[in-house]
Parts: sequence; structure tokens; C-alpha cells
Amino acid sequence: MRLDTLLTSATARLLHAGSPSARRDAEVLLCHVLGVGRTWLYTWGDRSADTFTRARFDALVAARAGGQPVAYLIGEREFWGLPLLTAPSTLIPRPDTETLVAAALARMPAHEGHLLDLGTGTGAVALAVASERPGWRVLGIDLNPDAVRLAQRNARRLSLSNARFVVGDWFAALEDSGWAMIVANPPYLAADDPHLERGDVRFEPRGALVAGEAGLADLRHLVEASFRLLLPGGWLLLEHGAEQGAEVREALQTCGYEAVMSEPDLAGHERVSLGRRSA
Ligand code: GLN
Repeated sequence: MRLDTLLTSATARLLHAGSPSARRDAEVLLCHVLGVGRTWLYTWGDRSADTFTRARFDALVAARAGGQPVAYLIGEREFWGLPLLTAPSTLIPRPDTETLVAAALARMPAHEGHLLDLGTGTGAVALAVASERPGWRVLGIDLNPDAVRLAQRNARRLSLSNARFVVGDWFAALEDSGWAMIVANPPYLAADDPHLERGDVRFEPRGALVAGEAGLADLRHLVEASFRLLLPGGWLLLEHGAEQGAEVREALQTCGYEAVMSEPDLAGHERVSLGRRSA
């Protein structure tokens, strides 16, 4: 069977299964099996697929039709232009989180400094920032040893030697204070958020998604505990849900942060809130 015919029938199957991105999913999965890029596929769609390719592709399409995220099936997702390894032990990096990276970079004009990324997962935020600021030293912490191993592999793969990763429970693993910046994309969904029952989220680790106090518990804890760890003039930046900006700003103000504000994501929702410890 020709590759383009294979793609057409896989697209139909994924559409039927309710994938919101059926054609793209089929292309990405076939590229993964063939070890080629999308352009290759567009150019050579008239070639025929061998039995091995078909069998592997069919298995991946079946898994995707069952709802599994493409990023877990191929083990990779691009974030901030970086190809990152992904695994079911961590959240899949999202475009929304690039808002956090951009907001951080805008406040890192200096050539050097120390940045802490709490709950780093794949290392996405830490590695994106490290890639843009080679003079900065970045430390990523995660409770899950599998996530830390994955982040370390990502750093090696991208040759980003200014990013390190260690296992720890939020701040417990920290020996030093004196951070110029602390960032986090913590769990912030309420346990009864209907979003948890739909799409890729169903396959992601609950511990990375759900927090108490209607999703605000970890955000509030991070606001309070970060203050004393920041250098004077140091920044805290937190990703949160579209409806949580006011609460996070209030927590920041109550704790004594200054220059408190929120920044919107690509859809225009407040997604990141930040504040500075006074200089
Ligand atoms: N933004 C994610 C979602 O809605 C949640 C990520 C998180 O809790 N940190 O799926």
C-alpha cells in the first residue's frame, strides 16, 4: 500500500475515534516509524510501505485511537523549538507554558544568575531558559526520580551543561537561597475539573495536574516559601489556570512582593503571574 493511502485511512480511523488533530497525528506517527520529516513524507507519498512499517504504524494508530497522547507514543515533543523527550511520568510540555519562558527571559537581562525551576518535569522550562541564557545556572527540581532522569537526558541530548536536575520535594532539597529567579508550572487544577476527563490529560500524571484548595494550594505555598529564597530584586514567576490570576496576585501582594502583575497566554488568558522581592 502507498504511504499516502496509508495516511488517508489512518486519518479516517483517528477522526472516527475523535482525535481533534487526526491528519497531523497520522503524519507524525508515520514519520516516527519511518524516521523521516514531514517534507519527506509529502515528497515521497507515492512510495509503498513495507510490511514492517505497516505493522508498526498500525499499532501506533490503534494506541492513538484509544486516546493515548502522540507525545507519549513517539516519546518526543517540541517546546520552545527544542525537541524534548517525553514519558508518561511527566506532563507533556504545552505551548501555554512558553508564556512562562518568555516572561522569565524578559526579566533576565543580566549575563549571569541562578534560576530555580520547581516541579521541572521534562525540564522544559529550565532547558528553554538555559538555552537562551548560557551564562545563567539553572537548577530543576522534581519529586519524581523518573522525571529527573528524563530531564537530565534532555539536557545531555541538547548539550545544555548549564542546567542541572535533582530529586526533591519543592524546596526540601535546597541547600542554598540567593536565587535571582524562581519559576514553576505547578499542579493547579481542581480535583473535579472536567478537563481532567478529556483528551491527553487523562493519560498524564495526576500529581502534576491536581492541587488542593480548588487548585490553588501549591501556588500559594510556592508564593510564600519562595520569598525568603529570592535575592533582593529577584523574581518569582508562576504559571496558573486562566481563572486564577486574581488569587495568585493577591497571594503575592499579601506576602510583600512588588511589581505584581499577570501576563496572558496565546489565547489571551491570564496564565503567568509574577512579583519581585524588593531590592
Ligand atoms: N495547563 C494544564 C492543563 O490545563 C494544566 C497544567 C498544570 O496543572 N500545571 O491541562
